Amino acid sequence: KSGFVAIIGRPNVGKSTFMNKVIGQKIAIMSDKAQTTRNKIQGVLTQDDAQIVFIDTPGIHKPKHRLGDFMVKTAENTLNEVDSILFMINAKEGYGRGDQYILDMLQNVNRPVYLVINKIDLIHPDDLFPLIEQYKGKLAFEEVIPISALEGNNVTHLLDVLKGNL
Ligand code: GDP
Ligand code: MG
Repeated sequence: KSGFVAIIGRPNVGKSTFMNKVIGQKIAIMSDKAQTTRNKIQGVLTQDDAQIVFIDTPGIHKPKHRLGDFMVKTAENTLNEVDSILFMINAKEGYGRGDQYILDMLQNVNRPVYLVINKIDLIHPDDLFPLIEQYKGKLAFEEVIPISALEGNNVTHLLDVLKGNL
């Protein structure tokens, strides 16, 4: 089984940290050449039973000019082509305007979206539930998956869920 997974989220939510955790080794395809193509491949996870290509979708931010509009459209198209979308948020910061912009875009996307709540190592467990409730009202998420990309908590579960959707 193999497939594509897009990771989106505001800056500093932990996307790169997550990638470093799941991708053991940088691969040749992450060269400059790959970066000039439509989608930036962040890494490929190869396991006995599955291969997942993680991609970054540039342009998921408010456009400031017409080239920006084009990038937003491109990002939307990309999101409609992947097997799964990981929408990553920062458990410590919670909901913000940057998230709403992404959520608005996801309204036009017809692929399963997983709400990945990262940095759970920074919050009290009691604070998780209200956070989930706040986001749940904003989009029909396939599943909500709290993780700590830094410490690795629940990352294996997240990968299992993604594999189940290939
Ligand atoms: P990106 O901009 O979404 O790629 O975010 P980064 O992966 O660069 O992470 C931004 C900062 O958050 C870095 O200082 C990371 O070490 C930190 N960070 C990422 N994941 C976690 C986590 O699960 N727990 C904690 N405590 N810090 C994290
Ligand atoms: Mg990054």
